Amino acid sequence: MMEPVSPSGRHKFLADVMLGSLARWLRILGYDTCYDNQVDDEDLIARCCADNRIALTRDRRLTQRKALKRSLFITSDNLGEQLREVLAFTGDHVDDRPILTRCLECNSTLQGVTRSAVRALVPSYVYRTQLRFRRCPECNRVYWAGTHRKRMMERIDRLLNSDSEASTT
Ligand SMILES: [Zn+2]
Repeated sequence: MMEPVSPSGRHKFLADVMLGSLARWLRILGYDTCYDNQVDDEDLIARCCADNRIALTRDRRLTQRKALKRSLFITSDNLGEQLREVLAFTGDHVDDRPILTRCLECNSTLQGVTRSAVRALVPSYVYRTQLRFRRCPECNRVYWAGTHRKRMMERIDRLLNSDSEASTT
């Protein structure tokens, strides 16, 4: 029997040095997105080929390199427009994305953990008021939903529906 292709696993990205904010928001939307602010063109091409990643880049010349099999030229400097460009490319709708399932710092897939396992790792107020937690298996960061998720969703909504938001945050 064939494994179903998970929505989050269909498109894997590697963002170039210009696209740090976009990379972070793609992780929030559950996309497997590598980002390294030191990577040069040759590294980027090699890593995309080795790991079957789509290069996201603001550099038109890079997309024309034959060694780079899959790339998406990001035309806008505006973060909201950049997100819309990627969603148009993947054909995904934001409401169907597995929001907050990846570590924002290191891109690993978060794992569910019991409440008691994170007791010593989160502020006591958070422990008292939150029921569900996830932890990054790589960097051990702990995530919880609560107001954080709600704020993220509102921010995504604003980003995708406005042209005026700066791309620097
Ligand atoms: Zn992590």
